[in-house]
Amino acid sequence: MELVVKVANSCNLNCTYCYMYNLGNDDYKTRPVVMTNTVFQKLVERIREFIDDNPEEKVKLVFHGGEPLLLGARRLGEMVTSLRAEFGRKISLAVQTNGTICNDEIIKVFSAGDVAFGVSLDGDKRTHDTTRVDKHGKGSWEKIEKNLEHFARHRDVNGLRFHSVIVVANPSIDIYEMFSLCDRYNLSGLSILMPDTTIDYRHDHYTFSDAELSDWLIDAMSHWMENYRKIRIPLFNAIFSKLFGGGSQSESIGCSRVPAVIIESSGEITPHDVLRISAPAPEKKLFVTENPLSDIWTNDVYKIANSGEENLSDECTRCPVKSICGGGFLAHRFSDDNGFDNPSVWCSVLQSLIGYATGRVISLGSSGAVAECSQS
Ligand code: SF4
Repeated sequence: MELVVKVANSCNLNCTYCYMYNLGNDDYKTRPVVMTNTVFQKLVERIREFIDDNPEEKVKLVFHGGEPLLLGARRLGEMVTSLRAEFGRKISLAVQTNGTICNDEIIKVFSAGDVAFGVSLDGDKRTHDTTRVDKHGKGSWEKIEKNLEHFARHRDVNGLRFHSVIVVANPSIDIYEMFSLCDRYNLSGLSILMPDTTIDYRHDHYTFSDAELSDWLIDAMSHWMENYRKIRIPLFNAIFSKLFGGGSQSESIGCSRVPAVIIESSGEITPHDVLRISAPAPEKKLFVTENPLSDIWTNDVYKIANSGEENLSDECTRCPVKSICGGGFLAHRFSDDNGFDNPSVWCSVLQSLIGYATGRVISLGSSGAVAECSQS
């Protein structure tokens, strides 16, 4: 189980595509700005209970938000110390930050606590400053670029586990610049996420065409295959892994499970929060103060998200690349008329990308290069 814990419910940025603030979901307004210590300690008890009841399940906890670093070094330090004291290395810890906050005290907390440190950005300065803006519309690249250097230095000197960045796929991004950035900061992971939207709102949210997005992803995949195979890109690794009959570590590919469970700052337990741009709120809410974590397994959306091929649309069921694509990410299949009973809003893009990867496998055979691409 992956627990995405919203320790801070506010953010110092206002990204144009943010599913929390700009895709029509206002739930965050009803929740506490930060998670209280009482709720956090109850969560620790619930994790203990879950591990005792499900010893075979791996647990990963991701400090998330809003912007989790807004919580400050002292509170974050108390949380990390509490988790390590209770579970030792039995659970893995990570934090996903927008990279705008950098102080030595916070970095020490994550270095000492062996917390993987991921930064979200949007590539080159021009695109990043268009999408990842502050509340006044000012781009955040300058600040983040300086901080990336700082994070990399802390990794090399103090062991901060800063190895990857996340970017939302966007044809405006100079993908070559993204790979150069990985070189510059010696990163081994680059997560490329399919843009979040639903079938009804795709054209409100994104102005680029499917063909432009396909070309961009194919260009990225080609450049990666030629020069950067050692960098882990879960979306690409998953496609090659599926082509070779393996599994998928990407929620956008191959009907993979969506094991992420969100713990809101209020202690509410919900399925992956991107699904909230699509699915209606459940009738019965779950809270760590009242419910075991495993109660999420009874949530209707969580069940659909983890039901594999069972809930694919007829079109996906008949699709020749179904076994690789798996219908894409669940939220991207939603429409007001049919619920999740549709192909992905990115169907043609996924078909093009999978077609390209298939062609490369056919031309390269099962050479070492292709085997490297399929390692997830
Ligand atoms: S490519 Fe389209 S039709 Fe085929 S499985 Fe994926 S979303 Fe469904």
